[in-house]
Amino acid sequence: MLNADLHCHSTASDGLLSPSEVARRAAANGVELLALTDHDDIAGLAAAREAAAAMGMAFVAGVEVSIEWEGMQIHVVGLDFDPQDAALNAGLAGIRAGRVERARRMAAALEKFGIGGAFDGAMRHAENPNLVSRAHFARYLVEAKVCKDVRSVFESYLVPGKPGYVDHRWASVADCVGWINGAGGIAVVAHPARYKISNGALRRFLGEFKDFGGQAIEVVSGSHSLDDVGVFGRLAREFGFLASRGSDFHGPQESYVDLGRLGPLPDGLTPVWESF
Ligand code: AMP
Ligand code: MN
Ligand code: MN
Ligand code: MN
Repeated sequence: MLNADLHCHSTASDGLLSPSEVARRAAANGVELLALTDHDDIAGLAAAREAAAAMGMAFVAGVEVSIEWEGMQIHVVGLDFDPQDAALNAGLAGIRAGRVERARRMAAALEKFGIGGAFDGAMRHAENPNLVSRAHFARYLVEAKVCKDVRSVFESYLVPGKPGYVDHRWASVADCVGWINGAGGIAVVAHPARYKISNGALRRFLGEFKDFGGQAIEVVSGSHSLDDVGVFGRLAREFGFLASRGSDFHGPQESYVDLGRLGPLPDGLTPVWESF
C-alpha cells in the first residue's frame, strides 16, 4: 500500500518543525504522498510543496479546519484543494482572527487562577502570530514550570472544565465543507475517535457532514488504537466514506507517531488518495 501521510503540522500552526523540515523528514521516513495540514492556515504549503518536490515525494494541499458542532470542537481536514481559492482563504482568515481573541480570554482566565503572562508567553511560542493554539499555551506553562509536560498541562488546565479553557465559536460544518468543496478539495473528518461524544451523536454528526458534502474520514490516525481503526473502518463502509490515513505529527517530542509510521488501511476501503 502507498505510504500516504495526510495529516501533520508545521510551525505555520502548532508543529515544531518548519514546513520544509516536515517534508524532508516525511520523505526520509519513507512517505510517498504527503499533505501538510496546519490548523486554519495554509501559509506553509508552498515551502512544503517545494521541499517535497526536491525529495521526489508527491504532495497535495492540506489544512485542518476548526469547527464546532453542538457546542463541541471538531476538526475537519481539507485535502487537494486550490490554495488560491478566495472564499477558502477568507474563511480561514476569519477563524484565525477568532484565535487571537480567544487567546486573550484564555490568558485572562489563567490570570484569575494566578498564572500570569500567558498571552505573551504563548505568543512567544507561536512562530505564526496569527495562529496561536492551546499547544502554544501548553508549551509556555511547561516553560513557566506550572506543569512537567504538555500532556499534564492539557489535563489540568486546557480541556473543558479546567481553568484555562474558554468557550469559543468556530466555523460551522456547512461553512467548512462548503469552503473545501468550493476550492475543489475533499473534506475529511479528522481523528474521529478523539471526540468525547456518544455513539448516537457521532452518527448524527457523520450524517450531517455527509449531507453537506463531506466525503471521507480518517480511519488510520496516529491517535487511533487498533480497535479504533476497526470501528471507523466499519463506519466508513456504512456511510460510504473514502478512507484517509495521517499521523497528526506535531514534532519529534510531542507526537503519537512519527511521519509515515502508521499501519495500513483495513481491506475493502477506498483510499481518499484515489480521488486526487
Ligand atoms: P486549539 O486548536 O487551539 O484548540 O488546540 C488544539 C491543539 O492542542 C491540538 O491540535 C493539539 O495540537 C493540542 N492538544 C489538544 N489536546 C491535547 C492533549 N490532550 N495533549 C497534547 N496536546 C493536545
Ligand atoms: Mn495541533
Ligand atoms: Mn486535530
Ligand atoms: Mn492535527
